[in-house]
Amino acid sequence: MAFGMPCFSPAVPSGQAVRSMDRSKRPALSVASGLARPGSLQRKPALRFAGSLDVQSLLQQAKFPTVLSDLPVFEPTNPESVKTYQSILALAQKLARPEVSKMPVGAIAIGNSGKAYLGANLELKGGLPNDTVHAEVFALLNARANGESGIQMMIQSLRPCGSCRQALLETGNPDLPIHVVDMKRGEVDTKTAGAYLPNSYHYASGQKNWFQSPRLDISEPADARFQPAWRAALQSYLPNPNRKTWAGLSVQTSDKKQFEGCVLTVPAPNNTISPLQDVMVRMAAAHEPVERIQSVTMVEPAAPDYSFSALIAQVLRRVAPQATFSVLSQS
Ligand SMILES: [Zn+2]
Repeated sequence: MAFGMPCFSPAVPSGQAVRSMDRSKRPALSVASGLARPGSLQRKPALRFAGSLDVQSLLQQAKFPTVLSDLPVFEPTNPESVKTYQSILALAQKLARPEVSKMPVGAIAIGNSGKAYLGANLELKGGLPNDTVHAEVFALLNARANGESGIQMMIQSLRPCGSCRQALLETGNPDLPIHVVDMKRGEVDTKTAGAYLPNSYHYASGQKNWFQSPRLDISEPADARFQPAWRAALQSYLPNPNRKTWAGLSVQTSDKKQFEGCVLTVPAPNNTISPLQDVMVRMAAAHEPVERIQSVTMVEPAAPDYSFSALIAQVLRRVAPQATFSVLSQS
């Protein structure tokens, strides 16, 4: 299905402009209600381990849980503990979509609740490098989508790249321990997020972080089709309220599953997490391929400082050409 240039619909409420990036004029989406956080629709109960952790059985499962609870605390100097977490990292690596690098990377974010959130690298061949999601960011977004208030610890199979070092500081905790596990030798290298990125560039308002987003004041769209995307947009992380960079995305898949995503900014805007990257993480965490996206609605500011809609249309054309895409510009 061809994607056209955005065309503007005249029959929209005052202050709102709906653009359809699909010329087929598909019928309206069915709309779910009662979404408090964009992740709550996908939130699943974390797996509980009554006794010893049987990661080996999880490794055999195609659709293993990506949120684990009641794990033994990671002890970087205990070889048995390191071995256990090497297996969990191997599980996380199974989530990878390393179409370009061919190198699966695994990460585990331990939330304030004690639950472990798995993450891996997601790469879409033929796209823009900015589409890529790194394992650490996947794990952090997985934790955020499940309502965590913060992160206690990271355990990962590779050192964080420069971009991820900044993202790890967006947890608001420069003392965050980052344990890098050598997957062959079992050696652990531990440093803090602040040690990985000293003298960092950060917002003046250092109290805000990805896990304590200020509530944004975005008026509710009259068109019910866009309300899930609007609710997602409300969860955008936007420490500078004067910037018009928020956005929300809601996708529905061919098997009627729904996923939402929002914008998470970092001080350097070129590393901002797009709502599609947030959606990619939630879909991968649910073992749902992005190729199953059937319809997409998006809400973004009218005259945004940065716009994600053209980029998202480009990605959809490539990975889900059957998808419809409608954008509401909200003043
Ligand atoms: Zn990275």
